[in-house]
Amino acid sequence: MQQQYKRLILLPQKDKSVLRKHPWIFSGALQKSKTEIKEGEFVEVYNSNKDFLCVGFWQNASIAVKVLSFEKEQINYDFVLNRIKQAYDYRKSLGFFSNPSTNIFRLINAEGDFMPSLIADYYNGLIVLQFHSVGMLNLQEYIVKALQEVLQENCKAIFSKSSSTLPKQNEGETDRFLFGNIEGEWFAKENNLSFRIDFNQGQKTGFFIDQRVNRELVGSLSKDRNVLNAFSYTGGFSLAAIQGGAKKVLSLDISKRAVELCEENVRVNFQNHNHQALAVDVLEYLDQVPKGEFDLIVLDPPAFAKHNRNLNQALKGYRQINQKAMEKIAKGGFLFTFSCSQAVSREDFGTMLFSCAALANRKIRIVQRLPHAMDHPQSIFHPEGEYLKGFLLQVE
Ligand code: SAH
Repeated sequence: MQQQYKRLILLPQKDKSVLRKHPWIFSGALQKSKTEIKEGEFVEVYNSNKDFLCVGFWQNASIAVKVLSFEKEQINYDFVLNRIKQAYDYRKSLGFFSNPSTNIFRLINAEGDFMPSLIADYYNGLIVLQFHSVGMLNLQEYIVKALQEVLQENCKAIFSKSSSTLPKQNEGETDRFLFGNIEGEWFAKENNLSFRIDFNQGQKTGFFIDQRVNRELVGSLSKDRNVLNAFSYTGGFSLAAIQGGAKKVLSLDISKRAVELCEENVRVNFQNHNHQALAVDVLEYLDQVPKGEFDLIVLDPPAFAKHNRNLNQALKGYRQINQKAMEKIAKGGFLFTFSCSQAVSREDFGTMLFSCAALANRKIRIVQRLPHAMDHPQSIFHPEGEYLKGFLLQVE
C-alpha cells in the first residue's frame, strides 16, 4: 500500500544544500507548515517551486529533517533491506566477514551508509544497534528483520542500546535484545586480540571500533617503548602496545569499571606483560608524570565538545592535555592524539596542536594524519561525518 507523506516546502533559495545531497535540512530553511508533524514522521520535501527534493523523517530540533532518499520512494521494508544489503556488500567486499584476525567492525555508519541516525556495530555475530532519532527507531522492526535476512548465520543476536541516545521524550526506551539472546560475557576479536564487549553497560555500543587501524599503528611503534595510554577505556591501545612488544604500558581511565575491564582484557590475552591500569583523572595525573618517562603517549579523550557552542571550552581541554603530553614525552617519542568531537574540525584541532607545540617549546613533526577505518565510510556530501581527527606527532 502506498503511503502519503506530509509535504514540507523550503523557503525560496534554500534548496542548494539539498541539491548537493547534504542529508540534513535545518528548520530555518523551511516554510512554516500548518499541519502538525509528529517526531519521527516521514515527510517529503519540495522546493518553493514545488519540485520534489527528498524524503526523510521529521525531528523537533534545529536539524528538522534527516534525508533518507533523494528519490521519490516509499520508506518500507524493501527500502531498508536494500540499504542494509548495500552496507553489508560493501564490508563483505572488503573482507570484513572473512577476516580470521578481526570480527569487530561497524556494519552501518549512519549517514555514511545513507541511514542517518543509525549505528550498527558487529561483534563476532552480536549486532549492537544505536538509534539516535525517532524516525530511524520507527524502522526498527524492518531493520531487525533485514539484518537477519542479509546476514543469515552471521547474525546471532541483535541488541538495542538506545536508551541514552534518543531524544529526551523517549526516556522509556530500554536497552534489550531484539533478536536472540546472549547470557554472560561476550568476547570478540580485533587484530588477533580478544576483547570483552561490555554491550549492555559500556560506553557507545560497548567498544570504540573506530580506532582499529590506529591501534595497529601504535602496536607497530611500541617495541621496547614505555607507553602511556591516557583515556584507555577497555584497553584497545594498551593491548596493541603489549602485542607490539612494549617494555611497559600504563593505562589511565577515570572509570573504575573501564579499568577493571582493561585489566581483564590484558589477562585474557597475555601471560607475561608489564602493564598497569589506574582509575585516575588524566588531567591531574599528567602533572605528576616525570619528564622523559614515556616515549609513546596516546591521548584519546571523550568528545570535549558535543555542540558548536562548547567549541572554545573543548579546545581549552584539548590544549591542556596536549601541551602537557608534549612537555613530558621523552626525546624522539611518538604522540598519538585524537579528538572525536564533531564540532572540532581537523583544522581547529591542528591549529590547537600548533599552539601547544609552540608553548611546549619542542621540535615536533607531523608524522601522519590519522584516519577512520574503512568500515566507517562517510558520505562525500556530509563532511560532518568525519568526527574522529587524529595526528601522529614525533617530538624531538
Ligand atoms: N581510547 C579508548 C576510548 C576512549 S573513550 C579506546 O581505544 O577504547 C574516552 C574514555 O575517557 C572513557 O573511557 C572515559 O571513561 C574516560 N575519561 C573521561 N574523562 C576522563 C578523565 N578526566 N580522566 C581519565 N579518563 C577519562
